[in-house]
Amino acid sequence: MAHRLTTCTYCGVGCGLYLETSDNRVIGVYPSVSHPTNQGKICVRGWHVHEIASSAERLKKPLLKKHGELEEAEWDEAFEFVAARLQQIRKRHGPDAIAFLNSPRCSNEDTYLLQKLARAVIGTNNVDQGSGVFCNNSIDVLLEMTGVAAASTSLADLAQSDVVVVDGVDLGRRMPTVGGAVIRAKLRGAKLMVIGTRRHRVAENADRFLQIRPGTEVPLYGAMAKVIVDRGLMDLGFVKARCRNYEDFLQQVREYDLLHAAEACGIPAEAIEGAAVEFAHARAATLLYSTSMEARSRDTIRAVVNLALLTGNMGKPGAGILALSEQNNLQGVCDMGMLPDRLPGYRRVDDASARAELETLWQAKLPSAPGLQAGSLLGNGADSHVKGLWVCQYDPASAAGLEETAGLFRNRELLVIQQLFMTEAARLADVVLPTTAYGEEEVSFTSTERRIQLAQKVIEPAPGLIPAWQQLTRVARLLGANWDYTSAAQVMEEIGKAVPFYSGASYENLEREYGRQWPCTKDRPLGTRYLFADNGTKFKFAAVPRPPQIANATEFPFRLFFGSSLYYWAQDVLVRHSETLKREYRVLWLDYPQGFVEINSEDAKQLGIRDGQKVRLRTEAAAAEATARVTPEVMSGTIFVPYFLREVEKKLLHNAADRSQLVPVRLEKEAA
Ligand code: SF4
Repeated sequence: MAHRLTTCTYCGVGCGLYLETSDNRVIGVYPSVSHPTNQGKICVRGWHVHEIASSAERLKKPLLKKHGELEEAEWDEAFEFVAARLQQIRKRHGPDAIAFLNSPRCSNEDTYLLQKLARAVIGTNNVDQGSGVFCNNSIDVLLEMTGVAAASTSLADLAQSDVVVVDGVDLGRRMPTVGGAVIRAKLRGAKLMVIGTRRHRVAENADRFLQIRPGTEVPLYGAMAKVIVDRGLMDLGFVKARCRNYEDFLQQVREYDLLHAAEACGIPAEAIEGAAVEFAHARAATLLYSTSMEARSRDTIRAVVNLALLTGNMGKPGAGILALSEQNNLQGVCDMGMLPDRLPGYRRVDDASARAELETLWQAKLPSAPGLQAGSLLGNGADSHVKGLWVCQYDPASAAGLEETAGLFRNRELLVIQQLFMTEAARLADVVLPTTAYGEEEVSFTSTERRIQLAQKVIEPAPGLIPAWQQLTRVARLLGANWDYTSAAQVMEEIGKAVPFYSGASYENLEREYGRQWPCTKDRPLGTRYLFADNGTKFKFAAVPRPPQIANATEFPFRLFFGSSLYYWAQDVLVRHSETLKREYRVLWLDYPQGFVEINSEDAKQLGIRDGQKVRLRTEAAAAEATARVTPEVMSGTIFVPYFLREVEKKLLHNAADRSQLVPVRLEKEAA
């Protein structure tokens, strides 16, 4: 029996764990006690991460559509077909008629080569990762205000915070080891403040729980800033030395009215005052927010960063912003440039000097116009100009914030899917290329705290299976590129040249410790625990206009809001192929086989609605039926609809973009 330290690849926390192997099978998992992120703890997904590789449902051979049916094919035949069809589409319709979409689960190496294939070989910036608009909002805002699209601090540094704010994420269910780190910080003496619409387990343990109405984060943070400014509690030394745009921000803050903000949020003004004073008095405070939270608009993130800047909570131990990504390599795929307007390392595609550097490295001319976003490749409004689509490990059916599978195939002349399992999307593809699984190849992933870690190869893949990065290399060569990668480590060497803050992240260096947090450079090979320690970094306050108040419509007294279900992770392709996790997932569906909408217990009592009862949701223009899940967790006056309840969404919203709106609705009991 062998044991090998590696990283869990289910979520963005990147817990350290050991895989146990026997006879070329992964037979078990146990957590690393000394890993700085999880310190001996892993969640139910981590304990069963090995079940993916051993699933009997794995795809083992390439599939090629012949006479309308997918049939097994040899690798050479599949690659030649893909290369010939890509060439044909490019010749007939131009390079921008081809697009590439990947999952935030793909490794750094697969992602880097996928976007390089698009940009340097095909000649298009049509590349995007499929986690939806909320995470892109986070990237854009962090770049705008701090210059770096990532968490500024570390999970281990929570031990040095004396105030920890958790905003809009149920850590206990969605990122349990982060929840554990937060609770440990509290036990060491930090004050724990939870902001959100839902009363969850971490909220129950908080020193302050600000249960606010959905969509009112901006007035809350604005009012907190006003209290801090009015009482002179801002860190003026930090602000003057390191921040721009303070006067404009101040002018906006002065316009806030504490009582109005309190009314909008649905909490007492004293609660906002108390939270603001506590936050401002902290020696070091950390703000955690989920990048994929429902309705995580740019303004809510701007408001969070403004508060950190106002109080000088950047660039010191235990202070900063922790932007949490729930998908395991969301940070990495963005770092690698899987964005239609950003090259590897976040330089803009229209930045001529950035392009020139990459053109030298890649020996190819690069396009300068931003490409199409993932949202325009899916759903009913899918861009029909795109004739060829390459999709790596992304499954639209399980994604939040993006539309259904249909748009993937509309007017396409080629659909290539790289996937571990047969999915709804793969069934409709022209070519399916099976990939290797966790444990079958050595590649790297970058966690939510910028930690670049190796997922180790512990077993041999099934005979003939080829890692995704090798598949991309073979197709690029058929298209005339001189790619000669023979290992993922070699790809990482090139990543170090293309992405300056990865320049010290060789496999040899990553293997020496529990990965390295970027910037990991040649002159800083041990990585960087928290950012902005260098006094030279300048930040920028952002204007955050007050959102319009929603009028109280007594005829439609509830506010409907959409978001990821607490059990969102259960819809993931990998979870659906892990026997134990599938079983856990089904428990919920025994009680609510048709799904559910969540209604506050007090509201349900007043309306005489029982748990599991059929209800009707009525807006001014439409109505939909659903099953009630009665819970004290959601706030009175609100109704929560999980993303996966697509029928309700389709009936009540015009399109998916409306999901971030708060829809006024009336709640009626269905006749028994
Ligand atoms: Fe894996 Fe995330 Fe669970 Fe850690 S918290 S074990 S990384 S799924």
